[in-house]
Amino acid sequence: MTRRIYMDAQATTPVDPRVLEAMLPWFTERFGNPASKTHAYGWEAEEAVEEARAVLASGIGAESEEIVFTGGATEADNLAILGVAEAYAPRGRHLVTVATEHRAVLDSCQALEAKGWRVSYLPVGREGLIDLDDLRKAVTSETVLVSLMQANNEIGVIQPVAEAARIAHEAGALFHCDAAQGFGKEPLDVVRMGLDLVSLSAHKIYGPKGVGALYLRRSKPRVRLSPQIHGGGHERGLRSGTLNVPGIVGFAKAWELCRDEMSVERVRLSGLRDRLRSALESRLDGVSLNGHPSLRLPGNLNLSFAGVDGEALITGLEGVALSTGSACTSASLEPSYVLKALGLPDGLARASLRFGLGRFTTAAEVDEVAGLVAAHVQRLRAIAPKEVLA
Ligand SMILES: *Cc1c(COP(=O)(O)O)cnc(C)c1O
Repeated sequence: MTRRIYMDAQATTPVDPRVLEAMLPWFTERFGNPASKTHAYGWEAEEAVEEARAVLASGIGAESEEIVFTGGATEADNLAILGVAEAYAPRGRHLVTVATEHRAVLDSCQALEAKGWRVSYLPVGREGLIDLDDLRKAVTSETVLVSLMQANNEIGVIQPVAEAARIAHEAGALFHCDAAQGFGKEPLDVVRMGLDLVSLSAHKIYGPKGVGALYLRRSKPRVRLSPQIHGGGHERGLRSGTLNVPGIVGFAKAWELCRDEMSVERVRLSGLRDRLRSALESRLDGVSLNGHPSLRLPGNLNLSFAGVDGEALITGLEGVALSTGSACTSASLEPSYVLKALGLPDGLARASLRFGLGRFTTAAEVDEVAGLVAAHVQRLRAIAPKEVLA
């Protein structure tokens, strides 16, 4: 079996070998539990965790005490939304979020709706961005939390997070940002941007899966949070459970590499992304870009191909591992709710591909993928019945 070219960097990324190297000792000879206070195994593990916490905190302009380690961004989103809702319920029972948020945010909000909370889901425009006036109209004195992602996982668009945070604060609400896609790729500073809670994930930045963090503002205002996982009182009681020491060490190392390489990598990736787009557009008609052309992650390209059947587009594409904007279930191909929120008709939303370029993507791979996709789309159009082309 030949390995496909990996072009799905918004789904996950491989662990960078330098990250793995930093993690390895913490699996074997340095295996201590950081909660063990009676011996050096515990002390050295705790020291490693605290060093990682400081590195990650400084990466977003925060203090160490404001970082809570979690099992990933899904858990951080749940903790932020459910935890704030529970702690602030007496103030009001209203949240504001956006139709194109990650399922971890939307499903947490839905869980609250089932308990009687009101949630406003803001629409997005054709290019995937929110309208700040919609947010101004949606927030009320009852609004406890506004949740807006930094960068979208399907279409890569960068939302006006700092401006949205200001509007939330003017209404007296807290502001949460899911930065799982933006962190390590886009500048992120909790002080400058005025963020109260931020969700992070290691595996989107060449770190290990199953580890993430929630930033929690400690002053002006001090964010209160009801824990969602109970146990030994780890992480100041906010997230019990023995810490994933190798994962946390790897997370910090992964961030350091992104930080050191960010400016060069952004230029390289956006160059490759533009090369892929023009290679496809020069060979094919009826290609349209989904999401804002410039306010987007450098490594994301989401394209729709008119006149092809969405199911055949993704299932018949060989040689490259990427994803459609759609959620694929065994029976049917549901069009992506993100693309539908942009106003795409079902057919075009189904006939879309998300190209996720990453640290290990090469120009040769980009050229090969462009050739494979163009040939595949031409083949499908040649055999497409006329009604599909409409
Ligand atoms: C991947 C992702 C998540 C979930 O992160 P996990 O660490 O996989 O749980 C949440 N939000 C966004 C925007 C993501 O891209």
